[in-house]
Amino acid sequence: MDNTSKILTFLDRKNDFLIHTLELPLSMQESHISSTAESTYKTLLLNSLPLIVFLKKEETFGLYVDSIIPEFLFKLEANSAGQFRSLLSPEDLSQDFKEVTGSLRLKKYIPFQTEPYSSVVDINETNLEELSTQFLRKSYQLESKIIISKDLHRSMLINRVPKSNIDRLEIIDPIKIDNYLKLNNSLIEKILESNDSTNIQIEMEKSGFTFLVERPINFNCKCSKEQFLPSLIQIYKQEGKSFFSKGNLHIRCDYCKKNYYFSENDLLSFKIN
Ligand SMILES: [Zn+2]
Repeated sequence: MDNTSKILTFLDRKNDFLIHTLELPLSMQESHISSTAESTYKTLLLNSLPLIVFLKKEETFGLYVDSIIPEFLFKLEANSAGQFRSLLSPEDLSQDFKEVTGSLRLKKYIPFQTEPYSSVVDINETNLEELSTQFLRKSYQLESKIIISKDLHRSMLINRVPKSNIDRLEIIDPIKIDNYLKLNNSLIEKILESNDSTNIQIEMEKSGFTFLVERPINFNCKCSKEQFLPSLIQIYKQEGKSFFSKGNLHIRCDYCKKNYYFSENDLLSFKIN
């Protein structure tokens, strides 16, 4: 099953907007979680994955939606190379939700800085599709919009080019993002429906956009049996043999759903380096 996909980025030189578009990797389009939670999960993922474009080389981030109503946690970890993993907990949310209340946190890890850069915004009855747009506006004062396709396979991030990247001396009366979206509505609709990146590039260039860059994205969980051992050993020290009263332990990775089994001997023979 294909875990890879890409983000295409285009520039509108005339209006100083960037348009990024991505498709969910095929493996994620066929969801592994309960069907009732599927659209919540995909919406959150399509809403947050485009933030990868803001990462500079070797930066990584962890994005957390701590929702109180309804109660769930969504987590996305991603790096500038486009590798990511994500989870929704609980996986069996009993229904799809359109609005959430709670908070959105982002922790950005920058090379050679010991402390991550953290920002938190409160979300209050916020539409799932608006989460990242609100976050970018409140935390980064960035004018942007993320739009998700109806069939939940593609999303687009449209943002004004940050001021420092503009080489002109002044911009006279820049177009407001809402008007910009209206102006490009039919192009945006066409791109959202597409699942062919060659066609997307042709359409965008035909409409006057300059193709800038293609970034790979790749669902990639680096979990391992060893990673679970230290915490299991802690519990084993407290509970002793009863920890194995039902036979070998079974743990499933929350991100990639891989199954791991542990015998008592696995714990006893583990040496911490
Ligand atoms: Zn995993």
